[in-house]
Amino acid sequence: MNATLSAAEPLSIKSIEKITYENNKLHKRLCRQVGQAIGDFNMIEDGDKVMVCLSGGKDSYALLDILLTLRERAPINFDIVAVNLDQKQPNFPADILPAYLTKLGVPFHIENQDTYSIVKRVIEEGKTTCSLCSRLRRGILYRVADELGANKIALGHHRDDILETFFLNMFFGAKIKGMPAKLQSDDGKHMVIRPMAYVKEEDTFRYAEVKKFPIIPCDLCGSQENLQRKQIKGLMREWEKKHPGRVESIFSAISTVVPSHLMDRDLFNFKDLNIDGKAKPEGDIAFDDEPCAPPQAFNTISITPN
Ligand code: SF4
Repeated sequence: MNATLSAAEPLSIKSIEKITYENNKLHKRLCRQVGQAIGDFNMIEDGDKVMVCLSGGKDSYALLDILLTLRERAPINFDIVAVNLDQKQPNFPADILPAYLTKLGVPFHIENQDTYSIVKRVIEEGKTTCSLCSRLRRGILYRVADELGANKIALGHHRDDILETFFLNMFFGAKIKGMPAKLQSDDGKHMVIRPMAYVKEEDTFRYAEVKKFPIIPCDLCGSQENLQRKQIKGLMREWEKKHPGRVESIFSAISTVVPSHLMDRDLFNFKDLNIDGKAKPEGDIAFDDEPCAPPQAFNTISITPN
């Protein structure tokens, strides 16, 4: 499954066919999942101008690539403009993205803003710089979207980013809150969309290899990777290793929320809940089956004396 066309040793025709088959399957899967997310959340509509934010990382390259494919097949018309914010980090290879986008024939804009110096000046040495950096970046990208006439801002976050954020908020922020697939920007002027919401990170790694995207390293700013996010990533990796499918199951869970079975009094009006004598499938059944016990386990328990 991890094979790609970039192998160094000579390959048999059969191996090449297998690799090509797997790569096509991956491309189809990404198109299907991105198309599904766009449809489920009504992310893109006829006449939209979608600003795709390109960082030079694997996820945003994959997002642009798949959106371009889907646009060719879509029954609606929408425009795409790629935008990169050059934050003037030391050694940022400023020529890579313009060369890539020119070759691709995609309209693009490079916004040059030295947020790196601002962050370095304002934040004390050794303190985490990411929150100020992303706040500055967000403001700039909203302005650029305005100037380019883009009503949608597409970001490359995938399923694993969404789940990591969910756990970060739960463990460190005491909130059930993830990263939405679609949400109005905080200035109220744009719609921020995450068309890769259903895509596994593992697939974006492989896709980047297959497509040979010219990846720009993400550690140019010198900031340490967020330790808490790293811990969550490790936790999810461990769960998936021990119980394959668990991460997918958690992702399905955040799409299937039952407010009456949680404790948020703003989401469910517990105070005014009264007995009305009507049977309700979502009502409490007092002795809920253990979700992980197979149904037959209960059939073997005798409730009558021998
Ligand atoms: S890792 Fe660097 S570039 Fe990215 S948000 Fe943090 S400070 Fe900004």
